[in-house]
Amino acid sequence: MTEKLSAERLSFVADNYRRLSERIENARIKAGRTDTVNFMAVTKTVPAEIVNHSVSLGIKLLGENRVQEFLDKYDKYEGDYDVHFIGGLQSNKVKYIIDKVSMIHSVDSMKLASEINKRALAVGKKMDILLEINIGGEESKNGIAPDMLDEFALEAGELPGLRIRGLMTIPPVDMNGSSERYFEKMERLYNDLKDKTKSNESFLLDTLSMGMSGDFEKAINYGSTIVRIGSLLFGYRQY
Ligand SMILES: *Cc1c(COP(=O)(O)O)cnc(C)c1O
Repeated sequence: MTEKLSAERLSFVADNYRRLSERIENARIKAGRTDTVNFMAVTKTVPAEIVNHSVSLGIKLLGENRVQEFLDKYDKYEGDYDVHFIGGLQSNKVKYIIDKVSMIHSVDSMKLASEINKRALAVGKKMDILLEINIGGEESKNGIAPDMLDEFALEAGELPGLRIRGLMTIPPVDMNGSSERYFEKMERLYNDLKDKTKSNESFLLDTLSMGMSGDFEKAINYGSTIVRIGSLLFGYRQY
C-alpha cells in the first residue's frame, strides 16, 4: 500500500465509522430503545493497521471468524478492545482462541460446547457463549434448529465452564424484506429463553447478536444488542 492510498483508506474508514454510528443510534431511537446497541467491527481480510485505526476511532468490539487469520493478526492489534469469535469453529481449534476472546457467538453443537467447556476450565475461566440459531432452517447453514433450542440450552447449561449470554443468527438472504420476519422470530426465541432461564446461574441473557451491513437497522428494531458490520465499515472484501 502506498502512503497516499493508505491515508485514503484510513479516512474512508473514519467516514464510514461516523455514518454507521449515526445510523445505529438513529435506529435505536426509532425503535424506542433505551439500552445499548454495540457496534462490532468484523475484521476478516482487513489488515491489522486498518483494524487498529477503527479501534482508535472508537470501535470497542472486534469480530473474528477465521482462526488462522486471527492468530496471524492478533499480535499486531493495539488499543482498548474486546474480541469475540463469530465464525464457524472446529472443536480442534478452540484451544488456540480460548484465552484470546471474551465471547464465542457460534456455538451450535454439543461437541463444540463440550470442548469450549473443557478448554475454559483448563485455563480457569468461564467462557461466555451465544447459541447460533439456524433461523431460516437452511440446509447450507450452521446453527441449532429453533425447536431444539430449549433442549440444547439446558444441556449446555450443565457445563460449568460455560455461561450462556444469548443468541446469534445469520438469517437467509433478504428476499423482499423477509429478514424482518426472521429477526422477529429471533427476538421471540430470545425473550422466551430469557424467561425460562431466569433463575439458572449458568445463564445471563443480555446479548442478541444479529444484523450485518445489509440489514442492521431492521435487526436493531427487533432487539439486536450487537450488530456485526464488515463491508460497510472497511469496504467490500475481495476473496
Ligand atoms: C462477514 C460476517 C459479518 C459481516 O458481514 P458484512 O455483510 O460484511 O457486514 C457478520 N457476521 C459474520 C458471522 C460474518 O462472517
